[in-house]
Amino acid sequence: MRYKGFLLISRTINDTVAFSVGYAIYAYLFALMSEIRFMEIALEEAVRAAERGEVPVGAVLVDHEGSILAQNGNRSIEYHDPAGHAEMIVLREAGQRLANYRLSGTSLYVTLESCIMCVGAMVHARIRRLVFGATDPKTGGVVSLYQIGQDRRLNHQLEVEGGLMADECGMLLQDFFRSRRNGRKRTEG
Ligand SMILES: [Zn+2]
Repeated sequence: MRYKGFLLISRTINDTVAFSVGYAIYAYLFALMSEIRFMEIALEEAVRAAERGEVPVGAVLVDHEGSILAQNGNRSIEYHDPAGHAEMIVLREAGQRLANYRLSGTSLYVTLESCIMCVGAMVHARIRRLVFGATDPKTGGVVSLYQIGQDRRLNHQLEVEGGLMADECGMLLQDFFRSRRNGRKRTEG
């Protein structure tokens, strides 16, 4: 009898553990799939930017419930604006939409590691989390040259995650610059 009771307790514990592990895996996969979905949307914006002749970088801003507040791509050339980076545009659009310059609790997905201007604006906006694709060793202000979002001297820090779909994001930039170089060579030659 005592043995049976032990078996029952043991099975209950096993079931609970299995359920918890199963749930944890499910929650992790669900979160990962959402992350990938947002980065894919950012990539689509990057492709549209390339079609406009802009450096192909796209960004998406998502609120704490997972709803998209704004999505856009680089528009520096179109707007004649050195601050026309994809991140700046989505921050501005979301600010207008929420009628608030603070965007607390939001997450920003961008195909390329942000520059110091953009991550500076994210600190001002109190963005909670920044997820980027490819790293930018030349102008990256998140991990490569500076770590602005994690600088404790500032009054706000961001959670940072890099490398999501880095190959796809990086490839798009490489193709863009390669075809631009080839186009230049063709017109020069
Ligand atoms: Zn930037």
